[in-house]
Amino acid sequence: MSAPADLPAETIAAIATPAGRGGVGIVRISGSNLDAIVAGIVGRALAPRTATFTLFRGAHGEPLDEGLALLFPAPASYTGETVLELQGHGSPQALALVLARCLALGARLAAPGEFTRRAFMNGKLDLAQAESVADLIEAATAAAARAAARSLAGEFSREVRALVDAVTELRMLTEATLDFPEEDIELLRAADAAGRLAALRQRLSSILARAATGARLNEGLTVVLVGRPNVGKSSLLNRLVREDAAIVTPIPGTTRDTVERQVEVGGIPLTVVDTAGLRPTEDAVEKIGIERTWAAVERADLALVLVDARDAEDALDRADAAILARLPPALPRVVVHNKADLTGAAPRTRAAAGRTHVWLSALTGAGIDLLEREVLAVAGVASAGEDAFIARARHVEALSDATAHLAAAAAHVEAPSPPLELFAEELREAQDALASITGEFTADDLLSVIFSRFCIGK
Ligand code: GDP
Repeated sequence: MSAPADLPAETIAAIATPAGRGGVGIVRISGSNLDAIVAGIVGRALAPRTATFTLFRGAHGEPLDEGLALLFPAPASYTGETVLELQGHGSPQALALVLARCLALGARLAAPGEFTRRAFMNGKLDLAQAESVADLIEAATAAAARAAARSLAGEFSREVRALVDAVTELRMLTEATLDFPEEDIELLRAADAAGRLAALRQRLSSILARAATGARLNEGLTVVLVGRPNVGKSSLLNRLVREDAAIVTPIPGTTRDTVERQVEVGGIPLTVVDTAGLRPTEDAVEKIGIERTWAAVERADLALVLVDARDAEDALDRADAAILARLPPALPRVVVHNKADLTGAAPRTRAAAGRTHVWLSALTGAGIDLLEREVLAVAGVASAGEDAFIARARHVEALSDATAHLAAAAAHVEAPSPPLELFAEELREAQDALASITGEFTADDLLSVIFSRFCIGK
């Protein structure tokens, strides 16, 4: 994957620390030859991988800042090229001067994610690891950060590669037998192709589960609160996010627009959306609010349908039943019987007719823990599993694809006279899907999309 040696990549430079003032600010430079930059800024040769305290100098030898210079000669560096780090003060102005000096000495400004893209191109990281760098930086919860660190260390990639190897082995076995049609089936039987495939599918399914949890950790879950006016949606939002995000009043129709807040439950980042209460109305503003409620429902992963605990469970108010009926059929839902404090009923959970009911009080907080547990169950995580890999929708899709191809392969191999070409073809497709995760064969435009989402300097 490395760039041809006769095509030296341009030298790139960027401020690697976040915008703002701080103790330390770092300018990072990567390229095939940084001699001119080292000479121009530091004024002397640097010992590899040794912190050298030095002045950073401008075009006329004037000091721009002082700090540590660190040189990592290729290939033992983050990008695999020669990398120079200038660790000065966390002053936006001083950093801009040092960066400008690098540009004057021949570097160009790095594009977002360009350092990591070079690390990928030079084989320092595979694609899943490169993505986990961005995911670690963006992690919204400690559990997501831990899962990203696990993927960055290569755990996810190793599991995926082991699967690719096992599929390859099975393919080789099959393709060898294709040349000897009369013995093929016997050979495959003798090699226990079906048994191997079954073991492979089991392994894949466990990796898929860990990646799906990781994708939840990464991307979170959008939870929408819907219900008639005054059932306590805003109170529940405030209770879930533990702050006064939404206005609570006894006057129906107070929430005219959707209000979104972020909260962490069991390590999963949740976006909780409070919506305008649903009721027939002639009020133009309220009508728009109600349209927005339905738009929010369309984007949600889970709907919490609030009803009044004083209404009997088996005789939901007609308006409540109408709301439930209007939700997209595939959208998971929990019916929240709020204001349980007014009926004296203890907080509890009950599963019935394909949905869960939870009795709680947004006012007192009783039963909120039960609701949080249900939300995590819908997210597919009883708790943010310690064995999750940070993953993206792209990875989950690839693993699901591979799962489908291996299932098709299994159907072929179990047939009375196995169609071996089709069996081999499904294995090949499964292998391609898996290999796309680590980026063995990845189109340039996909790489551009992935790396463009990084911050500059990474
Ligand atoms: P929304 O219109 O659905 O957003 O409802 P609000 O959150 O604004 O609440 C409407 C009224 O019900 C307010 O007076 C709240 O104080 C009250 N309320 C909300 N939740 C509870 C609860 O669990 N118990 C009791 N007793 N009152 C509640």
